[in-house]
Amino acid sequence: MSNIQPLPEAHQLMFEHQLQQLQDRHLLRRLRTMESGTGPTATLDGREVILLSSNNYLGLATHPTVVEAAVAATRQYGAGSGAARLVCGSLPPHQDLETALARFKGTESALTFAAGYLANIGVIPSLIGKDGLILADRLCHASLLDGCRLSGAMFRVYHHRDMHHLERLLARRPVGKSTLIVTDGLFSMDGDIAPMKDIVQLAERYDAMIYVDDAHGTGILGPTGRGTLEHCNVESRVPYHMGTLSKALGSAGGYLTGSASFIAYLVNSCRSFTYTTAPTPGSAAAAMAALQVIQREPERRARLWSNRARLAQGLSRLGFHLAASESPILPIIVGDPDRAMTMAQSLLDHGVYAPAIRPPTVPPATSRIRLTITADHTDEQIDRALRILEQAGHAINLL
Ligand code: PMP
Repeated sequence: MSNIQPLPEAHQLMFEHQLQQLQDRHLLRRLRTMESGTGPTATLDGREVILLSSNNYLGLATHPTVVEAAVAATRQYGAGSGAARLVCGSLPPHQDLETALARFKGTESALTFAAGYLANIGVIPSLIGKDGLILADRLCHASLLDGCRLSGAMFRVYHHRDMHHLERLLARRPVGKSTLIVTDGLFSMDGDIAPMKDIVQLAERYDAMIYVDDAHGTGILGPTGRGTLEHCNVESRVPYHMGTLSKALGSAGGYLTGSASFIAYLVNSCRSFTYTTAPTPGSAAAAMAALQVIQREPERRARLWSNRARLAQGLSRLGFHLAASESPILPIIVGDPDRAMTMAQSLLDHGVYAPAIRPPTVPPATSRIRLTITADHTDEQIDRALRILEQAGHAINLL
């Protein structure tokens, strides 16, 4: 029984052909539904497994205070915001969150977006247009690349974290060309950190702007969790900071902080802000509560880093090569997508959920198991996961 018109046959065949091609190359993706929240363990097909793939670094997505804040705001303001922020969707939880974010980051103002993705595809075209030049790290997140494309600016990539290459591109650019350097702060698939001191120095020397996506650094890097720029001690040399509320902050959304006039400019120029419904009151209130927890419970960050050390040391002891990771993101590079899929299945069979990450999310031949550890994992869970990882590494002859 169907109440929708079937696809035209030619389209159906074309889609099936493309899916078959992905399948043949071991690149087909399928949705998998967990039956639990995104805690240190999860329920999958009725089984409890250790979850090593969530960005819920500080465990705040399931923190009682954060959950309660979402529930209370939902009760008070409703499940949805009803309209875009500039129509009638701007509600007290949005305003309170932006005030708290600005205070946390030490800036005049803040603006939140319904997703980090929307922040990137909206703000980059607000910063630079078709007459400009963008120089981006080769391993930038897809949302940054999409933002760069949408801007219409000339686009060049520099080798990952390669400051000599970036400098060559800056030195060679056409005279007077407005330039934006784009990078992740903490790289999402490799767990390494952009050399922000050097990038800032180059930007100052060559009069370029900088856009740093700190989706993964927010909440976990820096002495107070303000992110990669705090970690690298360059906050005051970068005029606007981008991050997300969807990883360590356990909620959803993206944010920009900066001067009041910069934020007012974004309100008036970002299409991905203007033409989308405001974030739900619940998600805004949850992010605000998470910000308070981060500041009140620094021990969560300490536990995250000690868990990270336990897992990283265990993996190294087993003989896994961890590339340049400096963070709770620990990629085990496997190479071919089919091997990565085999390893992921072996992990799952024995009780660890860490799906394979394959192209185009990562470059060809670098398919991987991307492990992420959180503050809520126990020593026992980490040690059990290590035993399972060892077995899975042997199963594909990686160890
Ligand atoms: N930037 C980076 C580096 C990310 O990893 C992600 C999410 N995977 C985003 C942006 C998008 O953020 P969101 O999920 O909040 O849309």
